[in-house]
Amino acid sequence: MTGDADLLLQLFHRYGIHAFRLVNGRYAATVATGQCVYLATDHAGSVPLYIRPGRGEVFASTEAKTLARHGGPMGLPVPSARRVRRLAGVYQVPAGTVLAIDLKTGTTDAHRTWAPALSRRIVDEDEAVQSLREVLDTAVRSRLGQDGPPLVVLSGGIDSSGVAALAHRAAGALDTVSMGTETSDEFPQARVVAEHLGSHHRELTLQTSDLLARLPHTIWAAESLDPDIIEYLLPLNSLYGTLKGPQRRILTGYGADIPLAGMHREDRLPDLDSAVAYDMETFDGLNEMSPVLSTMYGHWTTHPYWDREVLDHLVSLEAGLKRRYGRDKWVLRAAMAELLPHETVTRPKLGVHEGSGTTSAFSLILTEHGVPEESVPSAKRQVVQELFDRTVVNGEHPDHVSTWDVVGEVADQLKERRTVPSARRPVGSPQLHAAPAPGLQPAPEGD
Ligand code: AMP
Ligand code: MG
Repeated sequence: MTGDADLLLQLFHRYGIHAFRLVNGRYAATVATGQCVYLATDHAGSVPLYIRPGRGEVFASTEAKTLARHGGPMGLPVPSARRVRRLAGVYQVPAGTVLAIDLKTGTTDAHRTWAPALSRRIVDEDEAVQSLREVLDTAVRSRLGQDGPPLVVLSGGIDSSGVAALAHRAAGALDTVSMGTETSDEFPQARVVAEHLGSHHRELTLQTSDLLARLPHTIWAAESLDPDIIEYLLPLNSLYGTLKGPQRRILTGYGADIPLAGMHREDRLPDLDSAVAYDMETFDGLNEMSPVLSTMYGHWTTHPYWDREVLDHLVSLEAGLKRRYGRDKWVLRAAMAELLPHETVTRPKLGVHEGSGTTSAFSLILTEHGVPEESVPSAKRQVVQELFDRTVVNGEHPDHVSTWDVVGEVADQLKERRTVPSARRPVGSPQLHAAPAPGLQPAPEGD
């Protein structure tokens, strides 16, 4: 066996499409067998996969932008896949799915290979803690590689600190890096962990203006139209862009908050579990884990909390193990207690966008351009959409697109709209483009 692709192929020969039920990994795969093309995503859809099927042919890519200007016929509809907003004829393969496309008939069958658990398990504390420690340890070990010490992006919160501790124990050496801005950082919290583990630690301070300048790059990489997701990914994407030196394999603490409902400071267990159920229902298509965010700078990222076994374990634990003794993410904190300083294990933490001041910096440039406070959320949506149209739909290089120009345009449009009475507004005036791209359907909100 020569590698992952070979392994998948051999499994495919043996199990057919069910091969993809067997593997726990981070991949997008295509297999062609003459008349049929199979397109598969991992359980989390962590490597986005896009298709543009036509008669007798399928174009597939892990980046939608490469299919945007492909031209040719509109392509065939794929009822089982998600249409990509603002990109006519392009579909995204759902997470944990194999699409089988028959090239002769153009028909598509979708086979689910994974779904998040709906049931919950009641287990005693010790067993929950012990098994989480084991499954997370395995996930971290399997992500280490052989090329020197691993690099963990360390915020100092329990999620990334837990990954750092396990990686350090497994590899014997560890590099860590923390990012902050001139307005805020969590350097002291991360330093406590780095010193405790003895990692080779770096602190990078970026200017919020440099972060905002990378908004086009983050949108180009994540291919997402969701301003919250983009705001969340912007500091990490900027961090990857600032790392100098050779290509690295980067482990993150990304995603622990989703199965553990860590962002919901909520004591009532039904509400906590509703949050888990909702987030597990709706993560697909957000592209938060897209490898492009780091591969655009030459680095590979991997996220142990969204390892299939870890995720299955975390989702299925009953809510009372996630919130316990007044602590959020209790089971994870308990599992890491022996490996980390007490203050790290007990401290709640801000999200990366709050911790780095990204959210407020983005809001600030809008208000500085005259956008009223109450219009900031919709202005952010428009800025993100315009940057998406320019970098993903129209193929402009993100280096050549200025966040400030686009913010200026959006602010001017909003001003115009406030002064023109709505009855006199031309049809379609909220659109930033004079004309939508050919064949583009106006997508309903929340599509
Ligand atoms: P968070 O929203 O803080 O949970 O961010 C997800 C992951 O991104 C964390 O678990 C860390 O691996 C990484 N991360 C977040 N903030 C920082 C930071 N300031 N410096 C370095 N890595 C970070
Ligand atoms: Mg976190």
